[in-house]
Amino acid sequence: MPDAKNIGLNYPITELRGIGNERAALLNKLAVNTIADLLLLRPRRYEDRTKLIKISDLKSDGSFLVRGKVVTKGINYYKWRTKSVFEMIVEDETGRLHCRWWNQPYRDQMFKIGQELWIYGKVISERPKTMDNPETEIVEENDEESSVHTRRIAPIYPLTEGISQRWLRLLVWNTFNQFESLIQETNAEILRLAKEYCNLTLLPKREAIRYLHFPETLAQVEQSIKRFAFEEFFDLQLKLQIRRQNLLKNARGIVCSGDNSLIKPFLSKLGFKLTQSQTLVLREIRRDFSSGIPMRRLLQGDVGSGKTVVAACASLMAIESGYDVAIMAPTEILAQQHYKTFLNWLEPLGIKVFILTGSVKNFNPDEQDNLQLHDNHKNYGSLIVGTHSLIESNFSAKKLGLVIIDEQHKFGVAQRETLVKKGDYPHLLVMTATPIPRTLGLTIYGELDISILNEMPPGRGKIKTFLYDEAKLRQAFDFVKTQLQQGRQAYFVYPRLEDSDPVAGIKAVMQEYSKIKSIFDHYNVRIVHGRLNQQERELVMEEFRRNKINILVATSVIEVGIDIPNATVMVIMNAEQFGLAQLHQLRGRIGRGICESYCILVAKLKTASAIQRLKILEETCDGFRIAEADLQIRGPGEFLGKEQSGIPNFKFGNILTDLSLMQAAKIVATKIATEKQTV
Ligand code: ADP
Ligand code: MG
Repeated sequence: MPDAKNIGLNYPITELRGIGNERAALLNKLAVNTIADLLLLRPRRYEDRTKLIKISDLKSDGSFLVRGKVVTKGINYYKWRTKSVFEMIVEDETGRLHCRWWNQPYRDQMFKIGQELWIYGKVISERPKTMDNPETEIVEENDEESSVHTRRIAPIYPLTEGISQRWLRLLVWNTFNQFESLIQETNAEILRLAKEYCNLTLLPKREAIRYLHFPETLAQVEQSIKRFAFEEFFDLQLKLQIRRQNLLKNARGIVCSGDNSLIKPFLSKLGFKLTQSQTLVLREIRRDFSSGIPMRRLLQGDVGSGKTVVAACASLMAIESGYDVAIMAPTEILAQQHYKTFLNWLEPLGIKVFILTGSVKNFNPDEQDNLQLHDNHKNYGSLIVGTHSLIESNFSAKKLGLVIIDEQHKFGVAQRETLVKKGDYPHLLVMTATPIPRTLGLTIYGELDISILNEMPPGRGKIKTFLYDEAKLRQAFDFVKTQLQQGRQAYFVYPRLEDSDPVAGIKAVMQEYSKIKSIFDHYNVRIVHGRLNQQERELVMEEFRRNKINILVATSVIEVGIDIPNATVMVIMNAEQFGLAQLHQLRGRIGRGICESYCILVAKLKTASAIQRLKILEETCDGFRIAEADLQIRGPGEFLGKEQSGIPNFKFGNILTDLSLMQAAKIVATKIATEKQTV
């Protein structure tokens, strides 16, 4: 037998007694390749085998662990033997329990009459007491003496075919005992910093591993998981912080110490006062601009919170300091809208505003640094608005001082960086209306500073949201009519462009357009979607803006950024097809004027959970609450969308609940990353 001392923890598991290539291959499926991996295999759950429930005490309101002897068992076949149910009755001194498994006839071979079993599962009926598909483990003769499987809180590991719970538990047990003395603390310094700076006490590694597999209490399990979760978070944060330190080391931040010669007249002519929240964010940005370090800031603000004006003020600070500004938006429509807004705001101040999209440009991106070719007085910079074209074309700007990315969740990190690289370490402001729950924010935006607009501009009408079952579609239409009669405008939004799915009942905008036209035949109804060409789309939007169109039938292309205050009704069809955060974004297109707005979610309400999910939108307009609920329901990958799902898959850390742990990890990682820089 190999001596533990001669085998390191990094040795492959084949070095362990009894693990040949075949077993090793099975363990590999559980991501266990080395001895260390085995020691860090996280149990799925734990069974407190010191506390047993008697069969007579089983209640149909939860999962329980019982211990009993097999009394009888058998298979019933039905549907011409294509289906089967294996049934087994076990008993303890208080009563009998029925266990059933469907279409698993092989289970008959697994048990013998008289055998003693652990049985864990959900009670689905009390008369007779029944569990469907419970988990079982055979109690062996000598179990009473051994404390591996019995008389303790037993770990239940993830399994794969060919590996049994008992075998794996014994393997972990033996391996731990053999190697315990070799487990060294590898992160002592980090634990010390966590204690010193965050008052966070974490278990030493050896203890943490023991408690992971052999806890005496469930509190010990929690402590163990916490230590390993912290390590995972720390590793991630260290990477982010090192990236940030490299930026600080290599870059000389552009100092924009503007003289207010643009900002002042801009604010006085704006027509409204900035909210307190907007002013605070601008103060943060101003501080970044004079710090000598390139700004890397995320601005979060719910739809309609007024991010554009913040972007304009930040731009003016850069422009009056002689620097150019580039703003990138994810869609043509939004880029066009921004272009108009900025033209409106900046041209009267003598600032040149350019646009560059797939279909429009008012300058030649192939000419070197042509933003500067336009000679505006006083050495001011210029501003350019664009789509992806900004990064895909030859556009460059020698005096690029600030890059702004709107609706940044629509872009990937790489695209963001490409635009930044068009200049020499310009400041970066990314904006998003998708509120990211904070732990997740610290994870994916760990290297950014975060500003939040948590206040809506005054005088906003409320949005009332109603959830309608499909059967009530007529009522929704009638309601829209009452709004149209008052001179308001409406959006109808569909999940698909074409290819409706009649079986699943999913509607597509192309097919529904003519129906809406005939139902609202007194009104001007038009359609907008991603496949119209730029000019057509822009024309429709412009007419809608000027109230020439009463109803706009659309796909979710209108999701982003559109700002038309007289549109006060939105009907979203097949609302069950959208994510909560996306629905919240969509309805952010209304409620932009002083009139009350109405959002009607028409959905197939088949299940209680579908109803409960959409009800959240009826209850709240708080983007953060909605985002949190959405994240919980869909998980981080789905929640963030394809482009962004570079979130690591944590084994121990829980991105939904471990906020303070993530914050501590960031603090400690920042300390370590800065120390590394200074030595
Ligand atoms: P979002 O944050 O969704 O991008 P916008 O920047 O489009 O929001 O702002 C929505 C509307 O609110 C715009 O019409 C804008 O001019 C207006 N707005 C922004 N800030 C204020 C303010 N402080 N007071 C009044 N209206 C404001
Ligand atoms: Mg916006």
